[in-house]
Amino acid sequence: MSDFSSLSRRRFLTTASVSAAGAILLKGCAGNPPGATNTTDTTASPATSASPVSAQSTPETTSAKLGFIPIFEAAPLIIAQEKGFFAKHGMTQVEVSKQANWGAARDNVEIGSAGGGVDGGQWQMPMPYQISEGLITKGNVKIPMYVLAMLNTQGNGIAIAKSQEGKNIGLDMSKAKDYIVGLKQEGKPFKAAYTFPKANQDLWIRYWLAAGGIDPDTDVELLTVPAAQTVANMKTGTMEAFSTGDPWPARIVGEGIGFMAALTSQMWAYHPEEYFAMRSDWVDKNPKATKALLKGIMEAQQWCDVEANRPEMATILGGAKYYNVPVDVLTPMLKGTYPMGDNQPEIKDFQKAAMFWKSPRGSISFPYKSLDLWFLTESVRWGFLPPNTLDNNAKALIDKVNRSDIWKEAAKELGIPDADIPSSDSRGLEKLFDGKEFNPENPKAYLDSLAIKRI
Ligand code: CA
Repeated sequence: MSDFSSLSRRRFLTTASVSAAGAILLKGCAGNPPGATNTTDTTASPATSASPVSAQSTPETTSAKLGFIPIFEAAPLIIAQEKGFFAKHGMTQVEVSKQANWGAARDNVEIGSAGGGVDGGQWQMPMPYQISEGLITKGNVKIPMYVLAMLNTQGNGIAIAKSQEGKNIGLDMSKAKDYIVGLKQEGKPFKAAYTFPKANQDLWIRYWLAAGGIDPDTDVELLTVPAAQTVANMKTGTMEAFSTGDPWPARIVGEGIGFMAALTSQMWAYHPEEYFAMRSDWVDKNPKATKALLKGIMEAQQWCDVEANRPEMATILGGAKYYNVPVDVLTPMLKGTYPMGDNQPEIKDFQKAAMFWKSPRGSISFPYKSLDLWFLTESVRWGFLPPNTLDNNAKALIDKVNRSDIWKEAAKELGIPDADIPSSDSRGLEKLFDGKEFNPENPKAYLDSLAIKRI
């Protein structure tokens, strides 16, 4: 059962339509993200009164412009702003700026805040690598970026249209393989959407299909659909599936539009999700301000993981300048309650919710280089990066982009206990839901173990 009342459903539809319209308007406003209503927070007050900013750690600048997409991944940035954790560390003029979509975020980091864009913010992986290498930028210009922290784990899922109920579409897609392949043979392929290609959401949907023996490149049709249009397009049958971040999947079930096939927390417990990354030139120019931002994010992540704080978190995130979604829509998911639909049992487990600071697998916030390597390995798997990426330069590339050293310095200055500061850049062996193992010491063995791939 969902917690939706008809009133909250109506409010949600109304507010979501307003944000969709806003997103379209903003999209037309090239390189110029949302204005005052979505950006500068003037009301936040520091969570604690004592300032920890010493003369030595005084940041070079008090301002930074950070982009976000209104999904749970952005919570550490929004909470750091609203609970005063950025200000506490001397970053009193941070703008947390809503981005119309991932393409707009990419465009805005290309121009930087000096050009009316952003200095960094929230990213799917491996976008900071693709931007650094000029793979997705205009004219293939390389814009070096640094990955500084992981923002969250879990809190994502794969939603399926109501027309597909009763077809055994769930976590284990081998049970639906004949049906899906049959659709293709009948000339009406199963269509699955993501909001930006070659990054998390595309990779999750590919992994999920391929684990069930379904080739995402030949047995189905994959397409990009702007986030603001996903729900409408699922209703009208443009696609049968889409991969996205909370809170959007809950709307699918809550409004009877469809059901959830899988949560990413079921596919890979405590998997890597989205990251905090900034332009390298900004970080190199402002090393103390970078650490001040990281300290604010770390404190926000710890705050977010206190279950008792989640009702307040829902109130802040649901606000008009952030998600613009009723609190009663956000609260169940933040507590780990997911109605799945299609006669599947509801999931009620706080450990399956989006998490931000630490997990039984170690630090969530620390940007383990071994997890970046998984994203690069999957990119090689699907032909998004050349195979020699792993032979020649994966380590050099990761060492250049991933600045776990800055995370550690900031954590030490913040007084994080040694036990919560990883000593290794590797999180070790990773196990996924279909029994596959990713050993970061041997990504080629992982690729060899996968039946469906483009290499
Ligand atoms: Ca995501």
